[in-house]
Amino acid sequence: MSADDTAGRRAQLISNLRTVRERIDTACRAEGRRPTEITLIAVTKFFPASDVRLLAELGVHDIGENRDQEAREKVRDPSLEGLSLTMHFIGQVQTNKCASVVSYADAIHAVDRPKLVAALDRAAASAGRRPKVLVQVGLDDDPGRGGVSPAAAGRLADAVRQAASLELAGVMAVAPLGGDPDAAFARLRTVADGIRAAHPGATWLSAGMSGDLEAAIRHGATHLRVGSAILGSRPALR
Ligand SMILES: *Cc1c(COP(=O)(O)O)cnc(C)c1O
Repeated sequence: MSADDTAGRRAQLISNLRTVRERIDTACRAEGRRPTEITLIAVTKFFPASDVRLLAELGVHDIGENRDQEAREKVRDPSLEGLSLTMHFIGQVQTNKCASVVSYADAIHAVDRPKLVAALDRAAASAGRRPKVLVQVGLDDDPGRGGVSPAAAGRLADAVRQAASLELAGVMAVAPLGGDPDAAFARLRTVADGIRAAHPGATWLSAGMSGDLEAAIRHGATHLRVGSAILGSRPALR
């Protein structure tokens, strides 16, 4: 990228970040929450390592990715060397990708089945890593979209807690398409409260994207996963 292109992209990211931070501040103020309680994860899927570097220079060190191959290549990009990034893997994890994902992910957000817990635990143990793990809760009745049912979430959290090489961090969800995000996130909060009662260390509530971050903040989100509002619109899904 030429110096002019980099400067233009930087200006765009600064402006988008300012807008997102204002939205977070406003939503927090309305709830009597502090913006410092909230971690903003910039979801950089489809965007190049150069954007990750600019975001880090602008103070955003929490980076989210949802495809293993893309994430792995990006984090190894020489231009990111020396940046202290926290990598969040927010996509569905295939069991045969566990070794790869644990090699770079500090937190894995979409863990929704016992088999995956076991596979991640084995992969983390052999890599000498101990990633944070979030239980993905399904908030609609479509099992295809991932997530354990609210009724089974507690049992899955117990399994993560018992896995020696995983750290139970909390819960995660995506609001159902076209549904009311407030209703969905209220359900999520009930599940999160139940898990927290059993496991006080499970403090993370990962919810809220570009379109619904205010609703997530109203229902206790601690981690927002924001892509397009920061980086711009992505090309259509591959
Ligand atoms: C892509 C993605 C996001 C970010 O979505 P935006 O609407 O672009 O903010 C958040 N969470 C998950 C799981 C994603 O895959």
